[in-house]
Amino acid sequence: MSRIDLHLHTTHSDGSLSPAEVLRLAHKANVTALAITDHDIVSGIPEAIATGAELGIEIIPGVEISSFDGNSELHILGYCIDWQDPELIRRFASLRKSRHTRNPQIIERLRSLGLDVTYEEVRALAGTDAVGRPHIARLLMDKKYVTSAKDAFDRYLAEGRPAYVARELPQPSDAIAWIRAAGGVAVLAHPTWAKVTGEGLNTLLTTLKAEGLGGIEVHYSTHTKRQTTEYLDLAKRLNMLVTGGSDFHGITKPDIEVGTGRGDLKVPERLLEPLKKAALLV
Ligand code: AMP
Ligand code: ZN
Ligand code: FE
Ligand code: FE
Repeated sequence: MSRIDLHLHTTHSDGSLSPAEVLRLAHKANVTALAITDHDIVSGIPEAIATGAELGIEIIPGVEISSFDGNSELHILGYCIDWQDPELIRRFASLRKSRHTRNPQIIERLRSLGLDVTYEEVRALAGTDAVGRPHIARLLMDKKYVTSAKDAFDRYLAEGRPAYVARELPQPSDAIAWIRAAGGVAVLAHPTWAKVTGEGLNTLLTTLKAEGLGGIEVHYSTHTKRQTTEYLDLAKRLNMLVTGGSDFHGITKPDIEVGTGRGDLKVPERLLEPLKKAALLV
């Protein structure tokens, strides 16, 4: 019954529930350890640790950094980081700044498409400095321009859609180096985002491993059995850590639950010790 969940978002980035609310759902789902992995921010971690102590849930300090390798947007998860590291905190502030450069450009595009939205409204709704497209999606939902976050991405916000604006992203090697410099382990999130598969993915992971990547998010809410097996085989072949998580966001991904994903996710507890051990060796 017990499980872990190493990929969760809260109101400190683009999730719709607070860390305490996420932990209460985790407790109900028999989650014994979890990582809050907000985008470019660690401010949710203290509340998670406090609530975790009350509920008996172990908290792994985490983060998720978006990067671009020239071909694919690759998300790098950082685990067991020293989340109070001043250099890391400076990096995150600078990543959030690049969000505030891009987001108003998205708003301008939406306005030129005739939608009555302002960035001030998005910022007020977000209530955090780590503002992402899901917040813009929520404003569009609130204003009834779209019926769901998926509808907002499909019609306006996804790559190739009329309000899409790319953000300046670090190289994966930078994101990996920042995480390791703060004592953490770097893991490739949702490997389906890589625009390569098979031998191409093997080559990509070999490069990322040489740059310091420690693991692969093998278990993930949307993975098919076949994908899970493929990534598990790759992790074995490359001698990399296996991790997993739901990527829970609350309302912007309404089909994803804490701990269980779309119902059949079960990240085994035994994956935690190797991860923590790897962090001690960084
Ligand atoms: P940003 O970091 O602001 O570029 O926003 C990207 C985030 O939006 C991703 O990390 C996902 O959490 C979320 N996202 C991307 N595509 C979708 C989608 N189709 N539906 C809901 N959320 C999405
Ligand atoms: Zn997100
Ligand atoms: Fe991601
Ligand atoms: Fe995520």
